[in-house]
Amino acid sequence: MPISRMELAGAGAPEALVKRILQAEPNLPVPVPIQELCARLGILKIEDLDTDAFEGGLATDAKRSEGTILAKPGGEPRRRFTIAHELGHFLMAHHVPDQPGRFLCKSSDLLRLTAKASDPRQRREVEANRFATLMLMPPHRLRAAMADCREPDLQHVLGLAREFAVGKEVAARVYVQYHPERIAIVVAGKGRVQRCYRSLSFPDVTCGVGSPIPTGSLYHSTPHRPNTASGIAARSPDLWIDVKRDLRVPSLTEQVYLQQNGFAMILLRLEPVPEESAAERRLDEGWRYRFHSGRR
Ligand SMILES: [Zn+2]
Repeated sequence: MPISRMELAGAGAPEALVKRILQAEPNLPVPVPIQELCARLGILKIEDLDTDAFEGGLATDAKRSEGTILAKPGGEPRRRFTIAHELGHFLMAHHVPDQPGRFLCKSSDLLRLTAKASDPRQRREVEANRFATLMLMPPHRLRAAMADCREPDLQHVLGLAREFAVGKEVAARVYVQYHPERIAIVVAGKGRVQRCYRSLSFPDVTCGVGSPIPTGSLYHSTPHRPNTASGIAARSPDLWIDVKRDLRVPSLTEQVYLQQNGFAMILLRLEPVPEESAAERRLDEGWRYRFHSGRR
């Protein structure tokens, strides 16, 4: 691994940093050896963080001459994301911690994808998450891995999580972002919506965070086997989205993956109904003409 901090000089945004790292490390294996990268880039130690209040931390100086990353022990995929997130804080010199020399990040910080423009703390957490996601799932490797994922399926999300050694939710977030179809993944916990990730073309989900999963959802319909993705089934789109009365109603399918800890992922897919045939359209136009002209 030949990279050093010298090669990152001048790169401030997460995308620019990851690009430089990947240029210096064109053969970086997957899963990305994040601890080795940290060692190359000035992190002296990675230690366990023994508090439930925070997920990760970073002790460093303002000049970032060196640093120590703290990460909560536990599942390896989760810990890898925490380490990558803290490495992001370390490499982005414009990130200023709340207390001098010490970043402390909560689990809600590690889930943050959007920030208020006026809130620098939120903005810095979003940037650290972007860095961690790009670093652990390098775009060129992700593109190759997703080339065979045409028909949306939660099996692909599980496959990505395994291949890149990231958590299922991180994989779900990226899958939704890069998949060309109109899809969304709802993360459910204790029967309620916890988080929802949508592709750009997927409309707003009407069940907000904290709302119960709609009773008509596949989530409730059959006893799901834990850790096994269900089949894909059609459901009424108005369970999840606002269906306009005067527009064609798209068809919606759901797929459920239940984890042992009571959490679940629900994959939603919207498909436009096929265009009406020319013959149907003529019939409709003829009917409208007769209606308006008073003929029968
Ligand atoms: Zn953070």
